[in-house]
Amino acid sequence: MPVVFHDGRAFALADRGVDLQDLLSRPDELRQAADLAVSKGLAMNVAPEQILAPVLKPRKILGIGLNYADHAAETGREPPKNQTWFVKQVTALNAPYGQIMMPAVSECLDYETELVVVIGRKGRHVPAERAHEIIAGYTCGNDVSVRDWQRATPTMNMGKGFDSHAPIGPWIVTPDEIGDVNELGLRTYVNGELRQNGNTSELIHKIPELIAHLTAAFTLEPGDLLFTGTPAGVGVAHAPPKYLKPGDRVRIEIDRIGHIEHDIIQERAETRIG
Ligand code: ZN
Repeated sequence: MPVVFHDGRAFALADRGVDLQDLLSRPDELRQAADLAVSKGLAMNVAPEQILAPVLKPRKILGIGLNYADHAAETGREPPKNQTWFVKQVTALNAPYGQIMMPAVSECLDYETELVVVIGRKGRHVPAERAHEIIAGYTCGNDVSVRDWQRATPTMNMGKGFDSHAPIGPWIVTPDEIGDVNELGLRTYVNGELRQNGNTSELIHKIPELIAHLTAAFTLEPGDLLFTGTPAGVGVAHAPPKYLKPGDRVRIEIDRIGHIEHDIIQERAETRIG
């Protein structure tokens, strides 16, 4: 059931047939439905593990590499002049408090805290100055990365698209509520230890430029998710690397949005067909 959060409480949207993703392109109706739910007092108890990703069927999940100068420096590389995009598979989508799988085929599991843009309207050839017209809002994301698989091929796609490796949420904060999107602190904790402590002011390519660049090539659609890059402090940049392991808990926080949190569990290489 679609829910909205207001003052720390969850409310059922008035029309239970409402598809939240469908409403992203109609913010006035979304607001009306949310206002109605709140005014009728349709409050619910929602346990964190019951909260699903705020977009359930994105048609694209895209991520940009090396979009913070301090992160580029810690990897020993120059920030790329061109925007460097990779694909996270839609089957990687995960809930905000879902479990992240430690792949059966790797021991190089890493975290990347990122501001995620949720697209609300279809757009093609959208200039930077009009990019805001197709943004539904913002959410937290963990661009979970399998470093050995990421580095094995130039496209990075294989190491970025493992199942469960795109948790987002816990909700979408709309542009009118986010404040200055270029002044948001981002933090990562692993078992309570602060690992990343950045700010979106450090983004090399700003969000409007990302949308202008992508839509020069293809159409962005409601529900598409754009991972905007991660600041310094990823596990692989430590000496020796601090990779994630089963039993770890990762917490991703972004100012004015909230946090998502995941336990790491071991995946077993079981063949499943059908
Ligand atoms: Zn990333």
